[in-house]
Amino acid sequence: IQWFPGHMAKARREIQEQLKLVDLVIEITDARIPESSRNPMLNELVQQKAHLLVLNKIDLADDKMTRAWRQYYENEGLAVLTADSQHKQPLEPLLKVANELLKDKLERQHERGIKSSVIRAMCIGIPNSGKSTFLNRLVGRNVAVTGNRPGVTKNQNWLKTKQNLEILDTPGVLWPKFEDELIGQRLALTGAIKEGLYHVDDIALFALHFLKLSYPQVLPKVYGLTEAQLSLDDPDLLLAMTKKFGYRDDYEKMSTKLILDYRKGHLGRLTLEQPPVDAEVTK
Ligand code: GDP
Repeated sequence: IQWFPGHMAKARREIQEQLKLVDLVIEITDARIPESSRNPMLNELVQQKAHLLVLNKIDLADDKMTRAWRQYYENEGLAVLTADSQHKQPLEPLLKVANELLKDKLERQHERGIKSSVIRAMCIGIPNSGKSTFLNRLVGRNVAVTGNRPGVTKNQNWLKTKQNLEILDTPGVLWPKFEDELIGQRLALTGAIKEGLYHVDDIALFALHFLKLSYPQVLPKVYGLTEAQLSLDDPDLLLAMTKKFGYRDDYEKMSTKLILDYRKGHLGRLTLEQPPVDAEVTK
């Protein structure tokens, strides 16, 4: 998706309409880049609703960092759920948090004699955060998720789960942040930005720089790089890797390999950003 102001306005309008139908908003983010994978105006959009933040793809993220991020958002007053929706059913833990969040609301309804205990929810997030995967896992089957283009009007249905949760079959797709170069690089490396909208070598250089700094054991371990190679500056290191892998001078090929290796988890479980430093890490 390439986002233009028209798309953004339309996506926002649609989501405002959908929000009227639900009790609970499930915001799906990528646990490897929790803050960078949040839409800049989502908080504002969901103000009146129960709001649950899902850190998804935890199987690809650094556990210690995931705990730190969870704590950071909880300190900010958000309800947080961690999920690996590729491999695990998130329904039970989701309902636990959702019920807690909606207790007040249900109590109020009860007083008025309304006996609806069904929770209605929708998923929202930027492209590629795992909304469709999460939804499918939640309802236990593959549903055709049609929400991956902004501003497409569709018929919406309620998907029923095994418990008292119903969920809109069309997730809300919002645009990522794109005002900051570093955020853009993180989004590109994780696959949240469409191919062709970035240069693979730029993203590979970003990855190399990040790995050297934050996870220095990865490059020697995974690619067998030597001390001498690691002391090269990033572009020379990329070229040295290109040669090492027999790609001659095709550094774009090497770049693509590095990016895919990261996305597939071949480099390990690596989180690309930390919560702000003043946030405390315990546990
Ligand atoms: P959407 O654009 O938000 O609907 O994202 P998708 O559900 O299409 O997921 C984007 C990619 O991430 C797909 O390749 C999924 O298989 C993958 N994915 C989604 N959730 C997870 C997860 O929890 N773990 C892993 N490893 N991959 C995931």
